[in-house]
Amino acid sequence: MKYNTKNYDYLIVGSGPYGSIFAYEAAKRGKRSLIIEKRAHIGGNMYTHKENGINVHDFGAHIFHTDNKEVWDYVNQFTEFNGYINQVVANYKGELYNLPFNMNTFYQMWGVKTPGEAAAKIAEQKVTAGISGAPKNLEEQAISLIGTDIYSKLIKGYTEKQWGRKATELPAFIIGRLPVRYTFDNNYFNHRYQGVPVDGYTAIFDKLLASDLIDVQVNTDFMANKETYLSEFPKTIYTGMIDAFFDYKYGELEYRSVRFESEVHESDNVQGNAVINYTDAETPYTRVMEWRHFDNHADDGKSIISKEFPQDWDRSKEAYYPVNDEKNSELFKKYRKESNNLKNVIFGGRLGNYQYYDMDQVFGAALKAVEKEFNE
Ligand code: FAD
Repeated sequence: MKYNTKNYDYLIVGSGPYGSIFAYEAAKRGKRSLIIEKRAHIGGNMYTHKENGINVHDFGAHIFHTDNKEVWDYVNQFTEFNGYINQVVANYKGELYNLPFNMNTFYQMWGVKTPGEAAAKIAEQKVTAGISGAPKNLEEQAISLIGTDIYSKLIKGYTEKQWGRKATELPAFIIGRLPVRYTFDNNYFNHRYQGVPVDGYTAIFDKLLASDLIDVQVNTDFMANKETYLSEFPKTIYTGMIDAFFDYKYGELEYRSVRFESEVHESDNVQGNAVINYTDAETPYTRVMEWRHFDNHADDGKSIISKEFPQDWDRSKEAYYPVNDEKNSELFKKYRKESNNLKNVIFGGRLGNYQYYDMDQVFGAALKAVEKEFNE
């Protein structure tokens, strides 16, 4: 079968932000692209759909936040943002705490009212824990940064569920730094720009891919006909898993996966906040999102919540979080070396680079790739 029927300049594998921005920028320069997407819809993990007037984020809560003005201005060409500020609440066995760790959290945990009292309490707990020398694992790292109470109630259970391993078996670098604020500020992010698109994220992709020079085929897996695609298209932008591209020849890279269970409630307000983290070890999910609190257009009378359950990854599941430990980083280097030899394939995005990227980083990386492709 012939795929390059329209003499496309580019084959783009994946319709997430990396692939879609590349296609948009190529079209602006008169280049024709075919995007193939194995899912039934465009948008990658940023995909949202509308239900009861509510924008539901199908692949977990997505809040756009950045300090990068160029990226912020860029994304604002395609959508208006609603000014949403992420303020997460933690539920530990029925006790509620504000996140990230700030004066509200310290007051709720210990009753302390001033930054001095909070700093003294944390310092005292660090001394009592008696950890000396370089922290050997995540548990030691967390306790040496924030003390035992916050570690055991707000970090331990959540982290162990998320990674499926004991905190004593996780490397310390996972929480190299912990955001600690001695102010009464519940804003989860420190970034200057933040929000959620007023019409959901999918509307951004409808605009990115509107050009006559871009065709999109959903339900199409590149791996099913890899060799034919590569031989027919002059250049390929690949945003799928890098190890899959090379048929796992050096072995599988590891990921953590998650699954979501959604419920529709006859209510305007189920939990009173967009995100509540469940930080104990027993609750099987890590967080619950109530989508109507991410924007303000929801119809009255219905609310949709989604529970996020972390799970082990295998090839039948979506790969969400790369496990960037030493073993996997070494393995990735082998694939990266191999990919550098393929001059007609650009590997990009979070799966192509085996790297956890926030959306703004993917936007920035795609714009850099465009710059390199067209201006060098
Ligand atoms: P993706 O969006 O994953 O797109 C890749 C596309 O390629 C997918 O559609 C996939 O189906 C397709 N594909 C893969 N292989 C093939 C193949 N063989 N053939 C055809 N198609 C293929 N970022 C933030 O900035 N803020 C947040 O709040 C935030 N929350 C997140 C929450 C969760 C649970 C997760 C997992 C991520 C979150 N992110 C967040 C990160 C954000 O999702 C990513 O930065 C972004 O989606 C990465 O874009 P991408 O184009 O690299 O990949």
